[in-house]
Amino acid sequence: MNSASHPTSGGNFPARIPSYLQSDNLGPWGIYLQQVDRVAPYLGHLASWIETLKHPKRALIVDVPIHLDNGTIAHFEGYRVQHNTSRGPGKGGVRFHQDVTLSEVMALAAWMSIKNAAVNVPYGGAKGGIRVDPKLLSKGELERMTRRYTSEIGIIIGPTKDIPAPDVNTNEQIMAWMMDTYSMNEGSTATGVVTGKPIDLGGSLGRREATGRGVFTVGVEAAKHIGLDIDTCRVAIQGFGNVGGIAAKLFAQAGSRVVAVQDHAGAIYNGGGLDVPSLLNHVMVHGTVVGFPKAEPIEREAFWDVECDILIPAALDQQLTQANANRIRARMVIEGANGPTTPEADDIFQERNILVVPDVIANAGGVTVSYFEWVQDFSSFFWSEDEINSRLVRIMQDAFSAIWQVAKEHQVTLRTATFIVACKRILHARELRGLYP
Ligand code: GLU
Repeated sequence: MNSASHPTSGGNFPARIPSYLQSDNLGPWGIYLQQVDRVAPYLGHLASWIETLKHPKRALIVDVPIHLDNGTIAHFEGYRVQHNTSRGPGKGGVRFHQDVTLSEVMALAAWMSIKNAAVNVPYGGAKGGIRVDPKLLSKGELERMTRRYTSEIGIIIGPTKDIPAPDVNTNEQIMAWMMDTYSMNEGSTATGVVTGKPIDLGGSLGRREATGRGVFTVGVEAAKHIGLDIDTCRVAIQGFGNVGGIAAKLFAQAGSRVVAVQDHAGAIYNGGGLDVPSLLNHVMVHGTVVGFPKAEPIEREAFWDVECDILIPAALDQQLTQANANRIRARMVIEGANGPTTPEADDIFQERNILVVPDVIANAGGVTVSYFEWVQDFSSFFWSEDEINSRLVRIMQDAFSAIWQVAKEHQVTLRTATFIVACKRILHARELRGLYP
């Protein structure tokens, strides 16, 4: 059966345009659909199931009303999307950001399906978010919003159903509130309902650093393939939070020079290499890289012109676009963020022979250690940090090398290769399970 005869467009049912695509700007979900289309020719007979990947399994929009400290009530819009659960429960983070949209959460959930399958952890893909600028909330307001959101999505999450985790602007404390709220409603402590928790609540050693460590690990592997020496290369990083900051630390420890960093407030440059440990301290105190004394301030936009070997976008989506892709002076882009490169920019990088290590493998270290955390919670037996880091590195190296082989075999980009590996795993599971009823 080919996709044209698939039931969504078969019989008396014309092909339907889902409501979330009925706009001029397709947004992140439209980008994801383009990425799926690029992979279809490589899926063999499994391509007949590809429509599965083009529709989220389930998407929940929730109203999150809370009492503000000033006595008024505010309503926020929240989402939880389960893109696919063929290979296991939904899994993916929750982000709090003023620009979150349903389209974005749908794309992020789909990228989680791909990512989880790429590293072969037994999960489907899911994602959640609230459209809010959390910096404008007091700690009490943030807690009330988190708890009400958790309660509202409580009907679809659970340790064997869908397991949230931290993402943009969410952290261990927010996971603790989510775990507590879910547990209160269930009547028993359910540590396995979220990952990225504090260590004292069933969290895992190494989880906080895992995404940055994964970025570094695949960066080292990719560098070997293109003849780049990690101990002499120059790195530029957008975003200096949990992903960019840790990746910077590991690259600097390996001898690389971190020459430029851009964040929400500005950008800094030091051609000799930034002192990463003191920059991390500066960011802890000031909340931004701006004002770091041992660097030259540069315009935020000028960051894209910095000469480097490795560029790591580790902030938000759609940062590398048609508008700036021709300016990039790097040999390799490692996507710490989810969805930072648009398909047009991908094509420009391919033409310019700039290697892109895509998000769906580059930042999979976080969810890999989330999987370890979930396994530890279920068995109530906790592993050492060395064990966690060495298992993480092994999984990332093996996954990267399998993807590299597929890229060589089909002469495709690493993004398409990762999608080939992941989509085959998901659709094979889909086919084995069959259609219910
Ligand atoms: N938010 C992270 C990601 O985008 C981690 C998800 C998780 O650990 O479930 O991969």
